[in-house]
Amino acid sequence: MNIECFLCSKVIPVQTSKKGLPWFYCEDCQFRGFVNSEQGIAGLETQAVDGGRFEPRPQVEPSEPPTEAHRLASGVDAKQVSEAIKGEIMPLLKTMQEEIRGLKAQTAEAKAPAKRKTKPTPRKPVTIREYIEANA
Ligand SMILES: [Zn+2]
Repeated sequence: MNIECFLCSKVIPVQTSKKGLPWFYCEDCQFRGFVNSEQGIAGLETQAVDGGRFEPRPQVEPSEPPTEAHRLASGVDAKQVSEAIKGEIMPLLKTMQEEIRGLKAQTAEAKAPAKRKTKPTPRKPVTIREYIEANA
């Protein structure tokens, strides 16, 4: 919906405020207007150059019904939540962080095995007789 600026006749769009109410702004005149009543909106519509109607912004509704977590959280006070976090969640988180650190260290070790300082001496081939004598 567009109206003419009543000062300069420039056609300007009617915008919708956060509250769902119409307002307009002329860049040339730096004129702005806010309309906050049914009567004002009706008047604005009679002034519309394009015959448009003002469509109030629909009330924002939650897109999904509240979850079980929301329902439970609504009956819990902030202090209880804070204490639960301090008492139960933080130690658990700390344990998990330690576990992760341990796993990371293990993974790093597995990826880059420590280099052998000395070359393994190649085993000499032995005959069965030599083996039996050596282990007798
Ligand atoms: Zn103007």
